[in-house]
Amino acid sequence: MPSRASYRDIPLYSPSKARCQVDLSDNTNLFGMPPAAERVLREAAVPLVTRYPVGYSPDLRDAVAHYTGVDTACVTTGCGSDDVIDSTLRAFLEPGDLIAFPAPTFVMMSYFAKVNGLRYAPVTLRPDFDIDVEGLLATQAKLIYVCSPNNPTGTVASRAALEQLIERAPGIVLLDEAYAEFARESHLDLARRPNVLVSRTMSKAFGLASMRVGYAVGSPSLVAEVEKARGPYKVTALSERMAVAALREDVAWMRAKVAESLAVRERLVAELSRMGLTCLPTEANFVMVKLRGALEVAERMRARDVNVRAFAGLPAGIGDALRIGCGPWDVIQTALDALREER
Ligand code: PMP
Repeated sequence: MPSRASYRDIPLYSPSKARCQVDLSDNTNLFGMPPAAERVLREAAVPLVTRYPVGYSPDLRDAVAHYTGVDTACVTTGCGSDDVIDSTLRAFLEPGDLIAFPAPTFVMMSYFAKVNGLRYAPVTLRPDFDIDVEGLLATQAKLIYVCSPNNPTGTVASRAALEQLIERAPGIVLLDEAYAEFARESHLDLARRPNVLVSRTMSKAFGLASMRVGYAVGSPSLVAEVEKARGPYKVTALSERMAVAALREDVAWMRAKVAESLAVRERLVAELSRMGLTCLPTEANFVMVKLRGALEVAERMRARDVNVRAFAGLPAGIGDALRIGCGPWDVIQTALDALREER
């Protein structure tokens, strides 16, 4: 069968979805689902299923605009922020163009670069885990992606570094704030700059990962280009209704769950430190802990029905590490017991 030559060496992106009793591998909200979104799900009407959604998700864009404090024209949405990021790359770059991003960062970035025929330049985070502004700018990339809080490290880019980068970047800066609700500071206001898009998601703090709703905020002219790349029907009508309900009615619920998550995170960091392990400074709902032989340890933990994400040989002086998501404390306790016995 004919196939796109550049795709032949691309493996499917397959995060470990081992069916474990305890799964702390995907940084989702493990504290339940937003009640207004749940009400919509239970009451969902058949016409919602049999007819197409309204193109370009106007109600969802309105609700996101209300939640983020911007105009509706500044919002685009998609089938998860994965899709928003992918559409952004297609909107602004031609095959062969270069993108740059810090390393380590969200592993899907190199995947999206490959499937869109782009070249990519990873630029190692500084020893203090801030972004290397000079290094990123030196690539002359047409689009620079920064994730803050960063997956998988949980560390953040400083405001000063972000401002420098945006001021001097030759092209677009895509700031991924998938974990913004967990962080001390959001940089959404930077989306007012003419070369910035800030992507966010309903998958993490809002607990709607399976509904696949993401969005980006930026100037109307940038947003209009992403809308072209995305096409009309990326978000199902049901997902749109659920996300709208959550954004309009469940913000207090979300904030309470974020607070629970952060309290668990502090306890988790304390326990890991007591075990003599080093955690990276995190502002997300997960903790990256350095651990030699992390891949093997994670494999043994999976045999005990506990799934955490493992990394080997990460740059920025990290080396091997586990990324452990926050969930209710009894779940964390089970994971910690497995780690204690298998490390
Ligand atoms: N960005 C980052 C940094 C992520 O960690 C994730 C989820 N793993 C995403 C984007 C994509 O999330 P979603 O497509 O569910 O919105």
